[in-house]
Amino acid sequence: MGGARSDRPATSAKRAAIGEFELIRRFFDRGPARRVELGIGDDCALIAPRAGRTMAVSTDMLVSGRHFLPDADPRSLGHKALAVNLSDLAAMGADPYAFTLAIALARVDERWLEGFASGLFEIADRFRCELIGGDTTAGPLTISITVLGDLPGAVALRRDRAEPGDDLWLSGEIGGAAYALHRRLAGDALAPDDPSALRLDRPEPRVALGIGLRHLARAAIDLSDGLIGDLGHICERSRVGARIELARLPIAAALARSPAVDPVREALAGGDDYELLFCAAAEDRTAISALGSSLSLPLTRIGAIVAGQGIVLHDARGAPVAIDTKGFDHFG
Ligand code: ADP
Ligand code: MG
Repeated sequence: MGGARSDRPATSAKRAAIGEFELIRRFFDRGPARRVELGIGDDCALIAPRAGRTMAVSTDMLVSGRHFLPDADPRSLGHKALAVNLSDLAAMGADPYAFTLAIALARVDERWLEGFASGLFEIADRFRCELIGGDTTAGPLTISITVLGDLPGAVALRRDRAEPGDDLWLSGEIGGAAYALHRRLAGDALAPDDPSALRLDRPEPRVALGIGLRHLARAAIDLSDGLIGDLGHICERSRVGARIELARLPIAAALARSPAVDPVREALAGGDDYELLFCAAAEDRTAISALGSSLSLPLTRIGAIVAGQGIVLHDARGAPVAIDTKGFDHFG
């Protein structure tokens, strides 16, 4: 990224807005491609797939007012826009590779773009995922990223491979993002480094976990819409049911302490945690625990896959509990 340029005509009120191509050049084009044959600047990017690997492709879109508050910090937004896509690669067990960025901007705000690009490239570089193209247009602020990853042959962690008797595992903790959102909507200005705010604004895609699970997990999904909703997707695709032991749920400490909301309900229904939920055979328990230790990432067994359909919640004494929760559905 170059610095601010001064060779443009300026009015007394403010500098004239930069054009589309200058914007791409200044904020998104970082020179010759490193991971692909040809990157930004031509009609298409060119990728030579790695021999013997299967490509994994996913798109996620963030819309202002729906997925983030209009005054969201641009740096966090740059991070989150790519993080949620990397999370999909993680849930498949894929290695990140490259991505494209389609962005609609209501106006050209250079400070906003600088913040957005720095958050975006910080996480892109950390996961060696290269920006190779995109599209830029005027319109209500919308960010759509398509991410490309790859993985060896037939080891992808699909949603439709869970089997009755599998253990149900969860990485990290859940409900932290939902708790932060509650506080923010209640008018609480969370400090940017507040752990709850970080959970919501700077989710950490579990890429290394996904790769480590390639030969251990049968099925996996990343938690974007909430535990119940996302587990429901695995159950539906695998034609199985599931049991969750509520007492085992790794609920975020700040949420568990909160008197204002029901922690269990939030942990089950709240979205945006981007942890991995996965199913694995009971004989792989030791190997999975060892993987968690090696990654310094807590992995918790929260229940099991069962024959039949539907999700049953059990309390600490093993009695079934009814809770009215649903995953977040944009058209529901
Ligand atoms: P075309 O007219 O062929 O669609 P564009 O003029 O939209 O091409 O884009 C010019 C080049 O800049 C292309 O290589 C495109 O992939 C890239 N590009 C456009 N917008 C972005 C962006 N937001 N981030 C990265 N690359 C972009
Ligand atoms: Mg275009």
